[in-house]
Amino acid sequence: MSNLNVSSLITPYGGQLVDLLVAPEAREAQHAYANRLPSIQLSERSVCDLELLATGGFSPLSRFMDRADYVRVLADLRLANGQIFPIPITLPVAPSPTLKLDTDVALRNAKNDLLAILTIEEIYEWDLNEAAQQVFGTLDPRHPLVAEMHRWGRVNLSGRLQVLVLPAHHDFRPLRLTPAQVRTRLAEYGRENVVAFQTRNPLHRVHEELTKRATEAVDGVLLLHPVVGLTKPGDVDHFTRVRTYEALANRYYAPGRILLALLPLAMRMAGPREALWHAVIRRNFGANHLIVGRDHASPGNDSTGQPFYGPYDAQDLVAQYGPELGMGMVPFRELVYLPEEDRYEESDKVPAQAKTASISGTQVRTKYLSAGRQLPEWFTRPEVAEILAESYPPRHRQGVCVWLTGLSGAGKSTTAEALVELLLERGRQVTLLDGDVVRTHLSKGLGFSAEDRDINIRRIGFVASEIVRHGGVTIAAAVSPYRATRDEVRRMVDTERFVEVFVDTPLEVCEARDVKGMYAKARRGEIKGFTGIDDPYEAPLQPELRLSTVGATPRDNAELILNFLLEAGFVRTPAVAPIPAVVTPKLVPAN
Ligand code: ADP
Ligand code: ADP
Repeated sequence: MSNLNVSSLITPYGGQLVDLLVAPEAREAQHAYANRLPSIQLSERSVCDLELLATGGFSPLSRFMDRADYVRVLADLRLANGQIFPIPITLPVAPSPTLKLDTDVALRNAKNDLLAILTIEEIYEWDLNEAAQQVFGTLDPRHPLVAEMHRWGRVNLSGRLQVLVLPAHHDFRPLRLTPAQVRTRLAEYGRENVVAFQTRNPLHRVHEELTKRATEAVDGVLLLHPVVGLTKPGDVDHFTRVRTYEALANRYYAPGRILLALLPLAMRMAGPREALWHAVIRRNFGANHLIVGRDHASPGNDSTGQPFYGPYDAQDLVAQYGPELGMGMVPFRELVYLPEEDRYEESDKVPAQAKTASISGTQVRTKYLSAGRQLPEWFTRPEVAEILAESYPPRHRQGVCVWLTGLSGAGKSTTAEALVELLLERGRQVTLLDGDVVRTHLSKGLGFSAEDRDINIRRIGFVASEIVRHGGVTIAAAVSPYRATRDEVRRMVDTERFVEVFVDTPLEVCEARDVKGMYAKARRGEIKGFTGIDDPYEAPLQPELRLSTVGATPRDNAELILNFLLEAGFVRTPAVAPIPAVVTPKLVPAN
């Protein structure tokens, strides 16, 4: 087995847990009382913090930090009473005359559900630059938390907390365990040592290798403890990730050696300080070791392209404070794959000339998932590859919206109809949202006032955005005369999946065509507010495509759009060459 350098323990793990939940029999009365109080709506981050405060995940902390705790945590990673706590847990709010000392306020989530009652015992200002510099070591807004802190309220509230209900979670219920529940479950395993693994990513073979080595090194149980609160923006969503953890835990680990539980933590991406915080939290959940690898809780690179923290800074800090917490560390150098030997090894034990292989997170997305290529088995288990492929289909199975705009009679519908057939021919299903047709059902009853036109366009936009979100192709063909509304729809759908096509037919041509006889009526004043006649058409400034219908056929234009979609990857280039016409071979006489 590996000769891991596991740091030894001084104190036994698992101190007293804080429990802020109001007793069930008192809840009803407290609820009625809270409904008469002024309310504060908590951010998603504060809701996560509240949950871990309530269940003891942040023990010994039992409230959003007061000034004394806050100041000391910033300066030397300890609460005012000297106990280790490296990350400030505060409740920042905008100053308001309704917030008064020695009064109670109700804490609610974004949907206004009541969660807790806070007795305001302290209101204090905090300094953004000081907090950013001390906790994150930088003022660079590339750090996701530094950027976020600019939006936080200028004062922090602190005081006694009474939690009436924990934030509701309906997903993966059996895996949502409180610190007390995790400790009870771990005790049933009957092993002295528990090593926790923190993660915010899907687990691949390298993580499996690393966790199994760590479990063996401490001769204990693995607490697989992924974060499902807030992680780094852009991470794989937790629904997808947890399915990979379940597949692995059920199939690739010995049943008596692993416990999978979800942690509703709002990460700060604070590197070393965060690693130590993870150790405090996991100690509360009953672990007495933490795996710390390379770049633990790393926020990526700063605006000069340099990493915010050294790759092993987190290990140094956990090594320094761990013993005082009763937390050992299982440190790892970077693990690399040796294809010639089909095994993983720590990079510092690999000879310089050895061939190694790796696939970065970015490559997983760009080279494999979006290209529809299966991830190799040396890199990830097939079950994991399948779950990721389902969640991240290749571009040609992702949604896209083609939005045709232009004057009435410009040729939007005609072009759209040709495009529908070209797309169906290439295996993509299409929903055509034709302005005229939409007005007979979805937008029935709406007229042509500026307001009604906007409502109509927004409805089409809403339907388009749902189709795109579900991986479908939609073509909208509507005059959509106002630039601001088109831009709004673009944002609703997703800028990356919105192809604005300007069908740029001059008014004279549209009027000469006058397919529906509308221009004649408008000129006679029988129709008011007709686009191009007595209502403006605001031409797109930067459409993805501009079409001319004079000198180009509908088919030519549909092909231009198709080519754009092919180049963007939304339609697959045929994998095989078209089958040549059948040629009957000449009979060659046998000799
Ligand atoms: P985070 O550290 O932000 O939670 P990850 O989920 O990627 O992000 O990492 C979880 C843990 O696994 C960290 O301790 C990290 O250092 C470690 N780790 C991830 N990949 C490797 C690797 N290839 N080699 C060694 N350690 C790794
Ligand atoms: P819109 O949907 O923009 O109101 P339609 O597609 O309903 O316009 O009508 C456009 C009319 O112009 C149709 O009668 C069509 O046959 C005619 N037309 C002539 N040349 C073209 C062209 N190159 N592209 C599209 N339509 C054309």
